[in-house]
Amino acid sequence: MPTPNVRREVLVAIASDWNSLEVPNTRKAIDLKALFANHCFDAKVQRERLPEKVYESLQDTIRNSKPLDPDIAETIAKEMCIWAQEHGATHFSHWFQPMTDSTAEKHDCFVVPDPASKGGYGVGIAKFSGSELVRGEPDASSLPSGGLRATFEARGYTAWDPSSPAFIFRHKNGATLVIPTLFISWTGEALDMRTPLLRSMTALEQQALRVLKLFGNRKVKHVSPMVGAEQEYFLIDRRLAALRPDLLITGRTLFGAKPPKGQELDDSYCGSIPERVIGFMTELEYEAILLGIPVHTRHNETAPAQFEIAPLFEQANLAVDHQMLLMQLLRSIAARHGFHCLLHEKPFTGVNGSAKHNNWSLMTDEGENLLEPGDTPHDNAQFLFFAAAVLRAVHLHGDLLRVSVSGAGNDHRLGADEAPPAIMSVFLGGTLEEIFHKLAESVGGRQQTADGATKAALQIEQEERIVMTESNLPSHIPPLKRHSEDRNRTSPFAFTGNKFEFRAVGSSHNVARSTTVLTAIVTESLDYMAGLLEEATKSQKDFHAAVHDIVCKTIKAHQAVIFNGNCYSAEWKKEARTRGLPNLMTTAECLPHINSKKAVELFSKYKIFSKAESDSRREIYAENYSKTIRIEADTAIEVVGTMILPAVLRYKSVLVVSTTSKLQKELLRELDALIDSLIEKLGTLKQMLQVRANALARSTQEEAEYYCLKVLPAIQTLRETVDTLETMTDDELWPIPTYTEMLFAR
Ligand code: ADP
Ligand code: MG
Repeated sequence: MPTPNVRREVLVAIASDWNSLEVPNTRKAIDLKALFANHCFDAKVQRERLPEKVYESLQDTIRNSKPLDPDIAETIAKEMCIWAQEHGATHFSHWFQPMTDSTAEKHDCFVVPDPASKGGYGVGIAKFSGSELVRGEPDASSLPSGGLRATFEARGYTAWDPSSPAFIFRHKNGATLVIPTLFISWTGEALDMRTPLLRSMTALEQQALRVLKLFGNRKVKHVSPMVGAEQEYFLIDRRLAALRPDLLITGRTLFGAKPPKGQELDDSYCGSIPERVIGFMTELEYEAILLGIPVHTRHNETAPAQFEIAPLFEQANLAVDHQMLLMQLLRSIAARHGFHCLLHEKPFTGVNGSAKHNNWSLMTDEGENLLEPGDTPHDNAQFLFFAAAVLRAVHLHGDLLRVSVSGAGNDHRLGADEAPPAIMSVFLGGTLEEIFHKLAESVGGRQQTADGATKAALQIEQEERIVMTESNLPSHIPPLKRHSEDRNRTSPFAFTGNKFEFRAVGSSHNVARSTTVLTAIVTESLDYMAGLLEEATKSQKDFHAAVHDIVCKTIKAHQAVIFNGNCYSAEWKKEARTRGLPNLMTTAECLPHINSKKAVELFSKYKIFSKAESDSRREIYAENYSKTIRIEADTAIEVVGTMILPAVLRYKSVLVVSTTSKLQKELLRELDALIDSLIEKLGTLKQMLQVRANALARSTQEEAEYYCLKVLPAIQTLRETVDTLETMTDDELWPIPTYTEMLFAR
C-alpha cells in the first residue's frame, strides 16, 4: 500500500488556509512615533529614570567613551530591573556576538529567594545587581575561539557595552531584558565580532579627526562609520520546509529540479506583496520599531518568494546590533506566520541568492557626511581626500574585503552571474569617475591647481540640478531631480552619491565582519595620507595645492581598482587579472589572507586584531567552512539513502510490473541507469568522507581545500542525478517538496 503523500496534504492545507482581515477600524490609528524604541532603555528612559548625576555620567561614557564609573552601575541596574519588570520581563540576559555569525544569550531570572529570610521558604525578591549588569561569565566554552581559549585559562566573560541600549525582547508568554555585551577571554582577547568592530571605530575616529584638523576643522569631536544594511531573505511555508531535511539542517536545498518558471519573467521584483507576507512584515516591523530598529523599506525581491527589508542607516555598532536582532526577528516572526525564513546566501539553485548590502559612510558628530560632495571648493577637496582614501584602501586590501564576506554559503553567490564577482573593484559612477580620471591624469602636469580639482568636483552638484522635464514626460508631472550617479548593480563596491555600497556581503553574515575590515583599511589609508599632508604643510606648501597633489597621486596609484563596466562579464575577469586584482573564488582560497603578514601588520597596528586574534579567526573560518560542507555531504547522503533511493526504487517496481511496449522498456532502462548512477555517486561521496575520517590530522587549510575541491563537487554531481530522477518519477511518490511548491505555494 503506498503511504499517503504528505506533500500533497500540506499543499491542500496551504490552499485552504483562509486569512481574512478583520473589518478595519479606521479610527484605530497606530502611533508609530510613540512606539519607536519603546522597549529600549535608551537616553530618553535613562533621563527619566536615573538621578541626574548618574545620567550625565552614563552619557559621558556613551558619548565620549569615558570609562564607566563603577559606582553608578548599582543604581542603573536597579532602575533597569524595575523598568524591565514593568515591561513584563522576568529574566535578564547578556547578549553577545560570538564568531558564528549569530548571537548568544543565557537567561537568569530576576527573582531569587530573599537572602534576609535566611534559607526560609516563600519569600522572593527581584534582584539585579550592578555587577550582574557589568560583567557576566557564561561558560560558553563550546563557542568557537580558534585556540584563544585552549590554554590553561578557558574563561570567557561578557562585558556590558553601554553604547548600545539594553532592550526588552518579547516572546510568547513573557519577555527578557537583554543587555548588549562584548565577549572577551580572561586575557582580554576578543572572542566576538563586536569588540574588533568597536576597536576599528576608535582607530578610524583618531585618523579621521587628524585629517579634519588639517583641514582646519577643530569643532568636530567624533567621527563614526555609519551603516545601513539591506537584508534579503526567502520565505517558504513552514510545513514544506519541515519535509526537507536539507533546508532544516543546511539552510539550502541540496536537491531540486529546476521549476518550469523561476524569475525569468521579472515579475517578482517590487511586485505587489502577497497578503500573507505583508501580514508577516507588518508584525515584524512592529516588533522592530519597539526595539528602536529604524526599519524603513520593504519589497519583493527578484526571485519568487524572496523579499527585502532595509532599515535606515545608524552608527555602525548600533546598526550591527540592530541587524543581528532583525535576523532573529525575521526567523521567529516568520514561524508565527507559518513561514520558514531562509537567510542562507543560496537556498535555491537557478534563482537569485540573498545578499546583505552594507551601505557605509563616515559622519561627524556635527552631522557632516564626509563622503558627501560639499558646497564649497574647500569641502569638495575634503570629500575628494576621503574618497581617495577609500579607493586606496580597496585597492591595497581588496583581499581583506573579500575575506570579510567569505563563507561556504556566500561562495555559491559570488561569481555566479547574479551577484558581484569575487573580484573587489570600485564603481564610481560617471561623474566621479571622470573627475578621478582627470585628477589622475594631472599628476606631473603643470597646469592643474587645487582649484582644478575642486572645480571638477563641483560638477557633481551641477549634475544633480539637471532635471528631466525636457524629456517626454507628460506636462503635469513635476520636474524630477536626477541622481548624479547611476547604478551599477554588478559592482561589489559602488559609490552611490554620498556613501559606498558594499554589495558582496552574505545574507546570513554578521555585518560587523565587513564593517570592521572596511573601517580598518580606510583607517590605514587616512593615516598614510594624513602623514603625507602633515609633511607637506610642514614644508610650508600651499595647503590646497598639497591636498590636490596627494589626492591626484593617490588616485593615479590606485585607479586600477576602478571599474564602471559589467562586473559579471568574462572580459572583466580577464582584465582584472592583468590589473593585478585578486580573484578569490572560494573561502578555501581566502583563508591564508586572514592572517597574512600584511593583514596582521595592519590589524595589529591599529589594535583591531592582535596576531593571536587574526590566527584564531583563520582557524575558526577554516573549520567552519569544512564542517559546513561536511554537514551538507552527510545530509545529502541521508536524504538520498533514506528518501530518494527508496522512492525511485518503488517507482521502478511499479514500472516493472506494468511495462509492456518497447518505449516503456526504454523508459525503464533509462530509469535503471540513473538509479545505478545514483547508487554509485552515493558510494563515492560516502567513501570521500570516510577517507577524511581515517586521515591523519591535517592542517585546517588542507582540510578546507579537500572539502572545497573534492567533496563539494561530489555533492553537486549527486544532485544532478537526483534532479533528473525528480523529473521522471511519479509525483505521488516523490518524497520531498519540489521547487515549484516551495517557491510558489503560499
Ligand atoms: P537603495 O536604492 O540602494 O535602496 P537607499 O538610498 O534607499 O538606496 O539606501 C539604502 C540604504 O543605505 C538604507 O539603509 C539607507 O539608510 C542607507 N544609507 C543612506 N544614506 C547613507 C549614508 N550616508 N551612510 C550609510 N548608509 C546610508
Ligand atoms: Mg541599495
